[in-house]
Amino acid sequence: MKVAVLIKQTPDTAELPKVSVAEAQSGDLQATMVINPWDEFAAEEAIDLKERFDFETAAISLGSEGETDALKHALAMGVDSAVLVDERIIDNGDEWTTAEALAEAVKTEGDVALVLTGKMSVDGNSGVIYAGVACKLGWDLLVNVTKVVDIVDGKLIAEQVFEGGQETVEAPLPLVVSVAKEINEPRYPSFMGIRKASRAKIPLLGNDDLRIRPAYASHWRNLVKPERERVQARIFDGDSVEEKAARLADALLAEKVI
Ligand SMILES: Cc1cc2nc3c(=O)[nH]c(=O)nc-3n(C[C@H](O)[C@H](O)[C@H](O)COP(=O)(O)OP(=O)(O)OC[C@H]3O[C@@H](n4cnc5c(N)ncnc54)[C@H](O)[C@@H]3O)c2cc1C
Repeated sequence: MKVAVLIKQTPDTAELPKVSVAEAQSGDLQATMVINPWDEFAAEEAIDLKERFDFETAAISLGSEGETDALKHALAMGVDSAVLVDERIIDNGDEWTTAEALAEAVKTEGDVALVLTGKMSVDGNSGVIYAGVACKLGWDLLVNVTKVVDIVDGKLIAEQVFEGGQETVEAPLPLVVSVAKEINEPRYPSFMGIRKASRAKIPLLGNDDLRIRPAYASHWRNLVKPERERVQARIFDGDSVEEKAARLADALLAEKVI
C-alpha cells in the first residue's frame, strides 16, 4: 500500500516582501521557490508511516514544467518517488480544477490508501485543496490531524485538535488527511538524500496521462494590487486616563464600532 503526499512549490516567504505584484503578473517572479512549509509536515509524516507500517511513499505536485525543487526536497527527506503534474492541464483553472488534477494523479499511483497534505499553502492560502481532492476521489477526509495513533483493520485512528480541544477519531481507509504542524518535527534532508534526489528523474504528467475535464469553473482574468487603505489617526487627549478613555469610547460609539 502507498501513502501519497501532496507537495506544493511556493515562494520562500523570507523573500516575499521583495516581490512586487507586477513581477508576479508578468510571470517573471524572481523569488526562490521552496517546498510549501506546511507540506514538510505531511512529507515527514509519510516517511514516518513508511517506517511504522511499511508503506511505499510518493510525492505529487502540480506546477510548471521544471518546478521540481520542492519534490526533490521531499525525495531528499526520504519519500520514495515523485511526479510532477503539468499545470497546463488545468488550463488556468481554479482550486476545484487543481483538486481534480491532483486526484487523477493519485489514481495513477495505484494502491494508495492514504493521501497526506499540508494545512494550507503560503501563497494561495485557500486551505481547500484537500477537501476537493477527497471529494473528487470519493474518499473520507480528516483535517487538522496532530497524531496518527494507529492504522489497524483498514482504519486509521488519529488525534485532531479543534479550538483547544482534542479528539480521537477513526475513519476507514482510503482517506485524505491534512496535517497540522504539531504532528511532527520535519527532518533535515541528509547529504546522501540530497545527492540521491539531485539525480532523480521526475516524470511529468500531462494531458496524455491524466483525463480531467476542461476547466469549467472560475478563471483568472486579472491580477491587481488592492488600493491602499487611507488611515487617519486621532489622538484623544484629556486630563486623566478616565477622561481619555471616555472620549475614545464616545468616538467608537459615534463610528458604530462598539
Ligand atoms: C480563478 C483561478 C485561476 C487559477 N489558475 C491557475 C493556474 O493557471 N495555474 C496555477 O498553478 N494555479 C492557478 N490558480 C491557483 C490554484 O488554483 C491554486 O494555487 C491551487 O489550487 C492551490 O490552492 P492553494 O494554494 O490555496 O492551496 P491550499 O488549499 O491552501 O493547499 C492545501 C494543501 O493542498 C496541497 N496542494 C495545494 N496546491 C497544490 C499543488 N499545486 N500541488 C500539490 N499539492 C498542492 C498541499 O499539500 C497544501 O498544503 C488559480 C486560482 C484561481 C482562483
